[in-house]
Amino acid sequence: MSWRKLLSAVVVCAAAALAAEAAPIKTLIVDGQNNHPWAATTPPLEKMMEDSGLFTVDVATTPPKGQDMSGFKPDFAAYDLVVMNYTGDRWPEETNAAFERFVADGGGLVIYHAADNAFPDWPAYNEMIAVGGWGGRDEKSGPFLHWKDGQIVRDTSPGRGGQHGPQHEFALDVRVPDHPVTKGLPPRFMHVADELYSQLRGPAKNVTVLATAYADPDKRGTGRHEPSLMAIDYGKGRVFHTTLGHAGPQLKSVAFIVTFLRGAEWAATGEVTQAVPDDMPGPEKPSVRE
Ligand code: ZN
Repeated sequence: MSWRKLLSAVVVCAAAALAAEAAPIKTLIVDGQNNHPWAATTPPLEKMMEDSGLFTVDVATTPPKGQDMSGFKPDFAAYDLVVMNYTGDRWPEETNAAFERFVADGGGLVIYHAADNAFPDWPAYNEMIAVGGWGGRDEKSGPFLHWKDGQIVRDTSPGRGGQHGPQHEFALDVRVPDHPVTKGLPPRFMHVADELYSQLRGPAKNVTVLATAYADPDKRGTGRHEPSLMAIDYGKGRVFHTTLGHAGPQLKSVAFIVTFLRGAEWAATGEVTQAVPDDMPGPEKPSVRE
C-alpha cells in the first residue's frame, strides 16, 4: 500500500470512528399519567433506547392525576428528542408553549401508543400527532385516515375517534418503503398480540403514513387498513407516531423495537443509521426478544 492509500485509509477510519462516536441523542421520556401502566413501560423503553447505543435518556414525571401541575416545566430545549408516554391532565400553558416551540424549532418527538389519546383540546398537539383517539374526538377533530387502492383516504364522515378490538397478532404493511424509517424493512412483518388502534382522527396535516395494519372485522375491526406508523412534519420538527406497544409483552416484539428505534432516530436527526437486525420478522410470525 502506498503512503497515499494508507493515509486515505487512516482518514476514512478516523471519520468512521467519529461517526460511531457521534454525540448520543439526548432524550426525555415524559410520563406520570396514563390510562396504561406507564411506570412499567418507561423503564423498558429507556433500556431499549440506551442499549442501542444511540440515545441517552432522562425521564420527566408529572404529578399524579388531579394534583397541582403548575411546577411541571421540563427543559425540553435541552434535548434532541422527547418521547411521549403520557396522557392525562393538561400541562401549564407555559409548558405547552415551550413544547410547541421545541418541536417547531426542530426538536424530535415520538408519540407512543396511548400518547395519541392525550390533549384532545390542544390544537398544536393534535397537529403534531396528526390523528388521535378517544377523549371525545369526533368529526370536529378531523378526518379518519385509511389506506385503500394504493393511497391514503381522508374520510370526513361523522363518528367517534378511537377504537380497538381484542388484542391479537397482526401484520404491518409498509406503504412508503423509501422513507428512512422503513427503508430495508420487509414489506410485511408480524407484530405480537396488541391492540390494533383504529378510527383515529385529527387534523392529519403533513402526515406520511409509513405502515398500516388491516383491522379484521373478525377481531371487531373496521375492515380497513389503519395507520399504525406515521411520520409528521411540524414546523422544523419531525414526529414519529407509533400506535403499537400497549404494555410489557408488546415491548418485546421485534417489530415494535425496530420501528420505535428507527422512528426515534429519524425524529431526532432526520436519518436512520441502524441496520435491520437478523431477528426482524417477516410475514409469517412475530419475533420477540426476552
Ligand atoms: Zn393500549
